[in-house]
Amino acid sequence: MSQPYNRVFNFSAGPCTLPVEVLKVARDGLMNWNGTGMSVMELSHRSSHFEGILADTEAAFRRVFHVPSNYKVVFLQGGASLQNTMIPMNLRGEGRTAAYVVTGTWGKKSYQDAKIGGATHLAFDGKEHGYSNVPDLGSLDYGDNPSYIHWTSNETIQGVEFQGDATLPALSVCDMSSNILSRPCDVSKYGLIYAGAQKNMGPSGVAVVVIREDLLPEMNQGLPPMLDYRTQVENGSMYNTPPCWGIYMCGLNYQWVERQGGLEAMQTRNREKAQVLYDAIDQSGGFYRGHADKACRSIMNVTFTLADASLTDAFVQGAEAEKLDGLKGHRSVGGVRASIYNAFPNEGCETLAAYMKSFAASNG
Ligand code: PMP
Repeated sequence: MSQPYNRVFNFSAGPCTLPVEVLKVARDGLMNWNGTGMSVMELSHRSSHFEGILADTEAAFRRVFHVPSNYKVVFLQGGASLQNTMIPMNLRGEGRTAAYVVTGTWGKKSYQDAKIGGATHLAFDGKEHGYSNVPDLGSLDYGDNPSYIHWTSNETIQGVEFQGDATLPALSVCDMSSNILSRPCDVSKYGLIYAGAQKNMGPSGVAVVVIREDLLPEMNQGLPPMLDYRTQVENGSMYNTPPCWGIYMCGLNYQWVERQGGLEAMQTRNREKAQVLYDAIDQSGGFYRGHADKACRSIMNVTFTLADASLTDAFVQGAEAEKLDGLKGHRSVGGVRASIYNAFPNEGCETLAAYMKSFAASNG
């Protein structure tokens, strides 16, 4: 079945597929948004129009993510990666340590970046098992009174995911870049949550940060203003020119998630989509091998290898011919990765599962 506008099934890990409905709204406003005679890209960020967009975007995010009133939300630049620097800079207290749980490539980067400028404690490193598992967060040794514990709820490259929120013995700081808005989340269990927009929220160029407000006065003093959460919060994400277009697109996506029925509905759909692919792996008689342990399989990034690795390129090329795009695993780990975020359609998973079956039948 062909896709609208002759689009492909885009399995990219981010930037990635966005809802067609959202893209159409964006397109329709491109020449003249809301009677302003300009596109959102051309609106002054100090205009009442953009102020309205920012307020609506934040309000929609708060509704859909159920953000309690004692949390601040800011839309920043520098991607999720800049948070690797801002978090320790702001939150690691004088003479204190920060604990890191490393379950994959992104957690490892966060840990390495935090080592610059202060003490860190590595509470877990899944390297020994090729980052195929996640620990029980309740049973780890977090070292001596850490200022916070950093973890990554979904590892985009390895496809391992914690199956829900956790209660931790110190301030919980979580990188939710690749599974935010894919399932319900109890924000009150966290001190700080951050996510790059380019998977479940919009285009790249925006990172959303949710911060419990009582942490702000306690944060380190004397920081460069752009890197100080207080500056960003006090200025309502407008200390400098914000990523206006990205913020606008995030708002459209939040409203789209709401129209889908919110996070419970997203989770149900995402589980169903992922199951189609995990079934294809598990029923292949060993032709395909899932990377993650079954208990921590990601419903956002399905990672697998072919028992005969020399067939991987042919698999990916054959898939492209069927309009199944972006399946090559990350350059650091190889294999195959199917990223199936919120906006990825179920038919794409069905089509890939059918392709996997026929590829195995002709090459097995
Ligand atoms: N954390 C996770 C879990 C990610 O998937 C990514 C990007 N793929 C990042 C951090 C880094 O994001 P950015 O490129 O926006 O800095």
